Formats: sequence, structure tokens, C-alpha cells
Amino acid sequence: MDQSAAFTELWHILEDVEDMIKEGYKQPHPQAPEFNVSLIRDNPRGELHPAKLEQIKETSGEISQCKSCDLHLARKQAIVGQGNLKSTLMIILPAPDYDSDDEAKPIAGESREFLGKWISAIGLDLDKHCYLTNIVKCRPPGNRPPFLEELSACRHFMQDQVDSIQPKVLLLLGPSALSFIQIPPNRFEELRGQPLEGPAPLVLATYDPIWVKMHPQLKRPVWEDLKLLKDFVEHGR
Ligand code: SF4
Repeated sequence: MDQSAAFTELWHILEDVEDMIKEGYKQPHPQAPEFNVSLIRDNPRGELHPAKLEQIKETSGEISQCKSCDLHLARKQAIVGQGNLKSTLMIILPAPDYDSDDEAKPIAGESREFLGKWISAIGLDLDKHCYLTNIVKCRPPGNRPPFLEELSACRHFMQDQVDSIQPKVLLLLGPSALSFIQIPPNRFEELRGQPLEGPAPLVLATYDPIWVKMHPQLKRPVWEDLKLLKDFVEHGR
């Protein structure tokens, strides 16, 4: 079996696992994406160890049942994450909004479309090459930013997900995502666009796509941040 076929087979196994976690039964799925083997080969972790897969399953189950903070009161559901579990690029999004809560996806609607364009601009595909998750897993009422105690209550899930996926790049979108690396949201403007200390070779913070949509003057600084990301993805620096 060549490498692409092996990745496709593993993809289907992971889809089955995800179905069992989310729905309790197997769902129909479109054809597996074409894997960019060279990109995946760059991943020092290689294939997911069964123990890691077990860890991902456990974390997903805990997130789905969690009532550790008041955000569980207004949610439709807790949103675990979405994307390629073998990805080298992990994107930490702001809290779920109405659209994402409605669709049970970490990001949906216009924001997703916009983020997809950013990721295409650096030669990657949002669905094939990224794993997406939110800094808190439940939608705050009125789409307000999460409070510090809510960020803190949910942080261990984020840590478990990063430990399982072990990305080469962590892209933090928006001020609240900075809390994952223990930096308060009010330092976002000062720190965005530069490599930060954290649990991946490159940790980078940039603006939330929907914020950029509302403030088009931010497109240029975002492009500068994406160029840094592109350079790292292409050359590992
Ligand atoms: S936001 Fe996180 S900590 Fe709070 S209830 Fe949801 S999953 Fe639990």
C-alpha cells in the first residue's frame, strides 16, 4: 500500500471514530481528500499512535459532556473541533458564535469562507491541512468574548488537544486565543505577528477573520502575519 492509500485508509478510520463520538453511529462521507503526502511527511510525529487516538476520543467525550462553567447553559452543544487530526497546522479560533453553534462547527458562514481564503493564500487547504478548534468549546451568550474564568475552566481541553495532535504551527486567532499560552487578551495588539513561546515550533497570533471583515484596514497586517506563516510552512523557519 503506498503512503497516500495508507493515509486515506487512516482518514476513514478517523471519520468512523468521529461519527461514533458525535452521533453514536456511522455516517455517509464524501470521498477522502487527496493527501499532500510531502506536507504530511514533514510532520515529525508521523502517523497517529493508537494511544493518541484513544486520548483524542477521551477528550472529545469529556468536552461533549462538560458543564464546568456557565457557558454550558446557553450552548446548543459543545464543539470539539474539526479537520485533519494529523495536521501540522492547528488553528485556535475565538469562542463559537451563533453560526458555528448552529452548524456544530468551530467556524462557519462568512468567517469560515474568509479564513479559507487566508489559508489558500499560503498554499494550504483549510479542510485537508488544518485542524480547527475553539479556545472555549461552548458559545458565550450574545457572542460576547469569554470571561477569564471561562477561558481558564476550558484551557485543559485545549492543552489535551495540542498534546494529542502535536502541531508544528499553532495559529491563534483573536485576543482570547492568547489565553492558551497564558497571555492575557489585552496584550494581543502588542504581540500579534511575531513568533511566541508555546508548545509548537511556531506559535503566531493574528486577527480574527470576522474582525478583519469589519475592519478592512487590517488586511495588510494580516497578510504580513500570513507571510511569516507561509515561510515557516515552506522552509521550516
Ligand atoms: S466552555 Fe469549556 S469548560 Fe465551559 S462548559 Fe463548555 S466545555 Fe466546559
